This record gives sequence, C-alpha cells and structure tokens, in this order.
Amino acid sequence: MALEHPAYGQLRQVTPTAAVLLANNPGQMTLDGTNTWILRAPGRSDCVVIDPGPKDKKHSARIAEVTGGDIALTLITHRHHDHTGGIDKLVELTGTPVRAKESGFLRGSDTVLVDGEVIEAAGLRITVLDTPGHTGDSVSFVLDDAVLTGDTILGSGTTVLDSTDGTLADYLVSLDRLVEAGAGKALLPAHGPDHPDLEPVARYYIAHRHERLDQVREALQVLGPNAGAMAVVRRVYADVDKRLWLAARSSVQAQLEYLRAEG
Ligand SMILES: [Zn+2]
Repeated sequence: MALEHPAYGQLRQVTPTAAVLLANNPGQMTLDGTNTWILRAPGRSDCVVIDPGPKDKKHSARIAEVTGGDIALTLITHRHHDHTGGIDKLVELTGTPVRAKESGFLRGSDTVLVDGEVIEAAGLRITVLDTPGHTGDSVSFVLDDAVLTGDTILGSGTTVLDSTDGTLADYLVSLDRLVEAGAGKALLPAHGPDHPDLEPVARYYIAHRHERLDQVREALQVLGPNAGAMAVVRRVYADVDKRLWLAARSSVQAQLEYLRAEG
C-alpha cells in the first residue's frame, strides 16, 4: 500500500522525481512536521534535497541514508529554523553544497539564489521563483511537473506572515506568481500533505486573504482606523482557537500595514 501523509522517517514517493521525508517535529507552526523533499531524475543515483529540516540528528541521518549521501545540491526555501537547522549536520554527513537566498546559509558555494535562475543539477532543471511574503527570503522551486512552495503555500491551513520582513503586498504578488507557475503542476509544500494541482490551492489562498482583508476593514470601521493588531484579532479571529491568536496577530499586523499603505 502506498504511504500516506504523515509518515515519519519513511521515504514517500509523490511524483516520478519527488519523494518526501517528513521530520518528526510536529507543532502549531509546523503542522505534522517539516517536509524534506528529495528530487531524483529517472536513472540517476544523485539527487537534490530541498530543506534539510530542523536540527535533529535522526532526521539528518535519515536524509543521508535514503540519498546514499549522493546529494548534488541542497536548496533552502527560506530562513526559518525548522527548514535550516539541519544544514550543518547534513553537510557534515554528506558534503553537500547548499544554496539559499540568504548568504548566511551558503555552504560550498558563494552564490545566492536569484529569481528566474535555472539550476541544472543531478539531471534536473529547477527554476527559482522569488515568492516573498511569508518571509522576505522565501523562494519556490519550479520543476516540469511540480512546484516546491516552502511555507508560501502549505498542504493544509494557511500561511502566517512573519512580521520581521513578510508583507502582505509581497505575499499577494507571490500568490499570483504561483497561480501562473502552478497550473497543472503538483503542490509540494514544506508542511502538510501534497496536492496534485497547485493552481486551485493558490487561488483559494488569494480568496482567503481577500476575505480576511475585508474582515479587517470591517473591524477597523468599528474599532477606529488606528486600532491595534490584537484588538483586531479578538474581533476577526473570535471563532479561532486562542492559542493561534499570537500567530494571527502577526498576520493581522501585516494586513494593517497593507491597508494603511493603501490609504
Ligand atoms: Zn517558515
């Protein structure tokens, strides 16, 4: 029987080239855990790894084991610890070069990822697509038949915008880019289950954001234009588990900045 999500520590083949190894780091922000994607072209022994996952020796050892240590390149979707914490252990175990948008994550390479760049590695063609919004350094990776979306689009639920440098204006542009890039391609997210077609999921994300924006606009009409983020959360997320309010505040903060910039 085919493995289904979630399957910790077991390599699960999702498309002809992409298989996933789910890290055992479930949590509020990570859903069932971080998906480490392993891309291998037919007939090749080497591979490309997307996101080494958290600092977890067991997970790093499993990646080394299922890849036979033959990793031509490791790519990073964005800076968060649950994606990057395992970089150094994986490098130690396999010697893989690592490339990312932020130079601090580069290993055995001195070139950061550039939007539109086409990477040829392990017999694969991978196009880098800048998709900021969740964080400023978020990128997606486009394959012939799938898109790896990092935390920009998840397999379930919706994405939290990191108030450090994530903006809703960026995020909405990124979602449009993913609608365009994702038609007829599988969604391979960094958390949650994969989906056969990215486009409808990206469209749902856009609709959801606009719905939330309308709710925030309505809340501001009641609370006044200078209402704080938490006051808006209490009103708009009244139906949502209180444990999620802190994360929601980050997204509401981004929405308020977006609306206030709009004037
Ligand atoms: Zn993240």
